[in-house]
Amino acid sequence: MNKYLFEINDLSTDNDDLMLHETLFHNANGYLGVRSNYEEGYPEDYNSIRGMYINGFYDFAEMKQAEKLYGFVEEKQTMVNIVDTQGIKLVIDGEEFSLFQGTVLKSSRTLDMRKGITKRTTLWRSPNNREVEIVITRMASFTMLPLFTIDYQVTAKNFSGEVKFISTHIGNVQNYFNPNDPRVAAESFQHIHVENADVQDGVSIIASKTSKSNLRVWSAVKNELSKEGDVQQHVHPHSIECEITTKIDQVETISLTKFTILFDSIRSENGDEQALKLMREATAKTLASLYEEQEEFLANYWENASVDVEGDDELSMAIYYNLYQLLQSVGKDRFSNVAAKGLSGEGYEGHYFWDTEMYIQPFFLLTQPDIVKNLIEYRYNILDFAREHAKIMGHTKGALYPWRTIMGKECSGYYPSGSAQYHINGDIAYSIINYYLVTKDLDFIAEKGAEVLFETARLWLDVGHFHDGKFMIHNVTGPDEYTCVVNNNYYTNTLAQHNLKWAVKFFELLESQNLTSVFEKIGLEHSEIESFKRAAEQIYLPYNEELDINPQDDSFLSKKVWDFENTPKDKYPLLLHYHPLHLYRHQVCKQADTVLAHFILEDAQSLNTIENSFAYYEKITTHDSSLSTCIYSIVASKLKQYDKAYEYFGESAKLDLFNTHKNTKDGIHTANMGGNYMAIVYGFGGLRIKEDGLHFAPALPKKWTGYNFKVRFEDSVIFVKIEGDNCTFSLQKGSEKTIRVYGKAYELKDSLVIPLEEKSHV
Ligand code: BGC
Repeated sequence: MNKYLFEINDLSTDNDDLMLHETLFHNANGYLGVRSNYEEGYPEDYNSIRGMYINGFYDFAEMKQAEKLYGFVEEKQTMVNIVDTQGIKLVIDGEEFSLFQGTVLKSSRTLDMRKGITKRTTLWRSPNNREVEIVITRMASFTMLPLFTIDYQVTAKNFSGEVKFISTHIGNVQNYFNPNDPRVAAESFQHIHVENADVQDGVSIIASKTSKSNLRVWSAVKNELSKEGDVQQHVHPHSIECEITTKIDQVETISLTKFTILFDSIRSENGDEQALKLMREATAKTLASLYEEQEEFLANYWENASVDVEGDDELSMAIYYNLYQLLQSVGKDRFSNVAAKGLSGEGYEGHYFWDTEMYIQPFFLLTQPDIVKNLIEYRYNILDFAREHAKIMGHTKGALYPWRTIMGKECSGYYPSGSAQYHINGDIAYSIINYYLVTKDLDFIAEKGAEVLFETARLWLDVGHFHDGKFMIHNVTGPDEYTCVVNNNYYTNTLAQHNLKWAVKFFELLESQNLTSVFEKIGLEHSEIESFKRAAEQIYLPYNEELDINPQDDSFLSKKVWDFENTPKDKYPLLLHYHPLHLYRHQVCKQADTVLAHFILEDAQSLNTIENSFAYYEKITTHDSSLSTCIYSIVASKLKQYDKAYEYFGESAKLDLFNTHKNTKDGIHTANMGGNYMAIVYGFGGLRIKEDGLHFAPALPKKWTGYNFKVRFEDSVIFVKIEGDNCTFSLQKGSEKTIRVYGKAYELKDSLVIPLEEKSHV
């Protein structure tokens, strides 16, 4: 089995399957994303989420609040479906190709993750018995980010005749909506308006503007046929149609290559000129050379990112699939981040959440730290909005990051499980600290990172208060969205402590290196540093002695435990079937909360407390969020409960490929994909990033014969291979390092072979 190839055969025409495959085979490159809609469309009564998106490109939309209380969000941002350049109709001697008529003799779809292309292949017999083979290849270029290509090849199997392609470029598109699902937009709205549609030098170009955010987008399309043909361009007010007619001989193959170039006004002025210029550059190359560049780019990516599991090919492919999707989704400039659904669909309206810092960055940090730097720059860029948001929320100092956003302003309509999740501040701080620990890039901290850390630390001081000698944080929500607006959420308090501690550390470090310009810039006083120190030292972390666990918050243990036994399967996810208040009154968790804190800040508690807490929360966690099972897997590994770790891991590895959450049609689950990587490297591999360097505690799941991965740390690249009874660490690049394996320090010069701990080989 080729682990770079995700393939399905005998394509289903069931509407749900089609919508699922639109997501699974989408093409994206971090800048643009195109759902894998059929060029020719579906029958009229079919649903489709037909979409093309640009990362970070948004329109404002009204957020209706039934009661307009102070500070409630009344306007949100939404990722815009910008244009439709996917359309190609094929007409053979007057018969239009469609999978819904004639006979499909053979069909398949593939995603080739080494080549960076998707392919749809169909052998079709028309109602009048003309047989054609159609191979459609799509690519979102990683080396020329505004470029998307469709190569449409037709081979006449048993006839000679006329072939007509009708290739469309449509400007007046809309976003998908579903009033019954809180996870996608509830109503339709015309976010994009065509300002101009034109053809210049054979290139159709549409300029559009958003309704409220006043952003512009330019799309340029060029159609090139592999042989002579009659070309007619029809320009309409909102669309352009290119009709190309030619002759095909029996066994001849003809191809239409459709180039799309996108530019937007967030990143460039004169996008129309730039689009035309880039179109000339792209079309001056052969498609083959563009494919070659794509393959080279990916060879380099896989060189750093691969995680190989020996003994389970299907799983290997699923892991590659997840890592490929992370690359497709991650923003490549300071205007963009990673949306919860990447660029594959409209779920969560293209918003960025804490998912990036806690689930996705841990992968990029160990493989391509520059990407993490860029993601932190995005947070730095929106710091002023976070300062403004803090004021709206009643704080006199500091910055409070929005729970969900695109351009920096808060977009959560329902504050109990939105803006109240103050831990986003701690998550962002945590990611900056880890970036520093892995790269030691103090200049970046001095220039940008520390400012974010000081402002988030200030916010903790403002939201928290001292009571009975303890620093407490009241009325916030932790990661678990089934328990809202509580006092002293354990996760939030530990992260706040970490943030405060490191604000002090960075202050001292920068002072000692004379990198102090940020102190003056934000008027940071010595007295504030003292307060950070005091709050960190005296923070209250809920602990229950009798159970030897960390309660999720002050009131959690006094609530009634949810009646799981009498909750039918079809009532999950609970959020779609029970009123939020009903959920809040029970001990029931949507996702890992305290258990997540026990993974990321494991030294805050004894192993016993972590173990007891795990057992406690496991019984009451539904994993209704896709961010959950991967964390349970990691902590189960830490506790050497490997069977459980494997089970949780398995549940999460194929979540999208098997559509287990039944909403993959709205987009992939990027956090889960990152979490999946973590479950292997941080879970089975036991990797931790600490102040004294890298720690490992490898174990080999019994279903695998081995696995391996690579990590970058400071100037070095370390290859880790677990196989048989041993774990081998090889220094592939850079200077020697001290690493810790099962708690013991080793000098890694060339390579080290360490026997797996007996009990870990299960
Ligand atoms: C989860 C959040 C997550 C969001 C976006 C929700 O279902 O509860 O933790 O940030 O999805 O992925």
